[in-house]
Amino acid sequence: MAATEISIRNLQVQYGHIKAVHIAALDLLSQEILAIVGPNGAGKSTLLRVMGLLEKPAEGTVIFQGQPATYDPRSLLLLHRRMAMVFQEPLLLKMTVAENIAIGLKFRRLTPQATQIKHWLDRFGIAHLHNRPARLLSGGEARRASLARAFILNPEILLLDEPFSALDAPTQNGLMVDLKTILAETRTTTVFVTHNLNEARMLADRMAVMMAGQMVQVDHPDEVFSHPATVEAARFLGMENCLLGHVLEKNNGQITIKIARQKIILKGTPPHNKQIYVCIRPENIRVAKKRTLTSTLSGRVNTCVKLGQMVRVVVDCGIPVVAQMPKEMFDQADLHAGDEVSVLFLSQATHLI
Ligand code: ADP
Repeated sequence: MAATEISIRNLQVQYGHIKAVHIAALDLLSQEILAIVGPNGAGKSTLLRVMGLLEKPAEGTVIFQGQPATYDPRSLLLLHRRMAMVFQEPLLLKMTVAENIAIGLKFRRLTPQATQIKHWLDRFGIAHLHNRPARLLSGGEARRASLARAFILNPEILLLDEPFSALDAPTQNGLMVDLKTILAETRTTTVFVTHNLNEARMLADRMAVMMAGQMVQVDHPDEVFSHPATVEAARFLGMENCLLGHVLEKNNGQITIKIARQKIILKGTPPHNKQIYVCIRPENIRVAKKRTLTSTLSGRVNTCVKLGQMVRVVVDCGIPVVAQMPKEMFDQADLHAGDEVSVLFLSQATHLI
């Protein structure tokens, strides 16, 4: 089993009457890339600050490589020197890009070598900017410079707060690909906070889902996306349809569920309780005029909205059900507002909570 770099136990952070973070346990494993995801205000940045020992929690323990962290200035300084943190806003100083990259080493009383600086400028594709005043960099370049400044420190743990936010899509993608390559080479243990699910899916070995200060799930991204632990997490993770249902019958791996006065038969094992949520992404729902017998609800098309190459169809089945399909499929199905349709749930993509 991988060693644990940072463990959090019984953590509570409170701001006035706001319970910002309340987590029983979280372990950061050696060499993993852990994404902390959740909506705005979930407590992600607060948790990151606590993990980076920048904030002392009112309650709970942060265990750094087996030792509970103490917060006396001397120990803190030593622990901080083993980590590097990159904030949402690149905090670059009024000097050249190369000087900014060297500054962290100087703060640690180390002598930056020109080859080291060149290496990290090259790795982040900003060698041509080495002499430019850092405040003249574009958003993407500044992010690259602040990441290079963190990597040159060769940290045992890297903490990144929204490393790609507020960048345009091509800049964001380019930086994500480069960071992924560099992390695969260095195997630096990394925690990064994001509300962007694509970033988490692309970079993370494990995802930690936070909602309202609590940790609701920590698992491999595929598992988190296919089997979210709670309805709130499912909605956040793109399972826009979370339909309240009632289990009527289970046999031979089939479950009959009542949803809004209709019956639907799905494959799978239901949770123990009778009242459940049937959760499914819009792209895993098919809408057709022809009636099929199982796995379907019937309803009336409410709206069809084209979104580029996809069409979003909302069907009133007693409750609104949202489907999304490629434009060709939509044209073939010949759907219009007011049509009577059946709505098919792809069983393997349906998750019951
Ligand atoms: P996230 O990073 O998920 O957006 P934060 O960790 O920034 O969430 O914030 C969690 C909650 O704590 C929010 O309700 C936020 O308003 C509150 N909060 C964060 N920092 C402070 C602070 N310094 N003072 C008061 N409230 C804070």
